[in-house]
Amino acid sequence: MNDIKLALLGSEGAGKSAVLVRFLTKRFIGEYASNANSLYRKRLSIDGRQLNLEVFDPCSQMEESRCILEEPVEWADGFVVVYNISDRTSFLNAKNILRQIREARTESCKGELEVPICLVGNKQDLCHARQVCEEEGRSLAQENKCHFQEVSAAENYQEIANLFTKLIRHVMEH
Ligand code: GDP
Repeated sequence: MNDIKLALLGSEGAGKSAVLVRFLTKRFIGEYASNANSLYRKRLSIDGRQLNLEVFDPCSQMEESRCILEEPVEWADGFVVVYNISDRTSFLNAKNILRQIREARTESCKGELEVPICLVGNKQDLCHARQVCEEEGRSLAQENKCHFQEVSAAENYQEIANLFTKLIRHVMEH
């Protein structure tokens, strides 16, 4: 498979766009107008294979509507579910999203129970205001058989690059 499609999901303000833009450009964007659905494309080489990566970053209004997952679940080969470690509500929302992905995938034409997902606890630099401990994130990921990584889009590129690479490898093997 040379085309890889990923979807980013999570609460508004969790830092989805910041995480994605950090991965794509190595830079941190402080503010980002996220009032439209965005589709990012990038050519990548992983393990010697040339890939066309597409990442869907839905606008927040869409996420809050009922159709949050209908389109991405059908479309995506893998998911990045982002929460903010300093916002417990965003963690609960991530939990909900993981459940919805499982349910929607089971019903969808793809019919796959195990879909490659990475659960991402963002804003690790705000650990003084932490509301979700790392262990909680890790066990939620284990329960849902997904990868897990805490990151800071504001301060670190490498962990974000690693998580995308790991997820893309998983999609390629899937
Ligand atoms: P989205 O709605 O999930 O796409 O969130 P954004 O990417 O627009 O980020 C929401 C806000 O959080 C913005 O003000 C970002 O500058 C900020 N932000 C994103 N990532 C981080 C991070 O790792 N650390 C800190 N301190 N702020 C972040």
